[in-house]
Amino acid sequence: MPIYHYKATEKVKGKCRCKDGFDILQSMSEKPLKKCPECGVKIKKVPSKFSGGVALLSDGNLRDKGFTKLVKKDKGVYEKTT
Ligand SMILES: [Zn+2]
Repeated sequence: MPIYHYKATEKVKGKCRCKDGFDILQSMSEKPLKKCPECGVKIKKVPSKFSGGVALLSDGNLRDKGFTKLVKKDKGVYEKTT
C-alpha cells in the first residue's frame, strides 16, 4: 500500500501531529482524507518526501555505505566488484 503524507491546512489547536504532517498508509481505492482523524482540522495530501525516487549511487558510494555490488558474469556466476 502506498504511503501518503498529509498536513493540516488550517491552524491546529493543541499538539496534534497533523500540524507538522503525518504519513498514513492507504490503499489506492481509498478516498483521500479531508480531515485529521485525530483532531478534525482540515488536512490535505502533500507529496511525500520519499517520492523523489531512488538516488543513483556510484560503485564508490555503494562501497562507502557497506554495500556489495554483484555483477552477473556467467551462468550463475557472480563476481564481486566492490
Ligand atoms: Zn490533527
